[in-house]
Amino acid sequence: MADIIIDEKKCNGCGACVDTCPGDVYELRAGKAMAVHPDACHHCHTCEEVCEQDACHIVEED
Ligand code: SF4
Ligand code: SF4
Repeated sequence: MADIIIDEKKCNGCGACVDTCPGDVYELRAGKAMAVHPDACHHCHTCEEVCEQDACHIVEED
């Protein structure tokens, strides 16, 4: 399982990660991205690529 880190100070709630994630990992809650289904992440890193705020990061676990 990957660790999904969202920097709430950087996240502006644009929703790009929510829209792009093929695993439906993210939802917007109170204007910030939240990883509500982290188990569904398959480490494609697309969310990192679309996030213009550099707010979400996928940390691979051993
Ligand atoms: S793409 Fe980045 S800034 Fe936009 S909602 Fe997701 S984490 Fe926040
Ligand atoms: S790495 Fe891919 S599957 Fe995982 S949260 Fe980001 S966009 Fe979704």
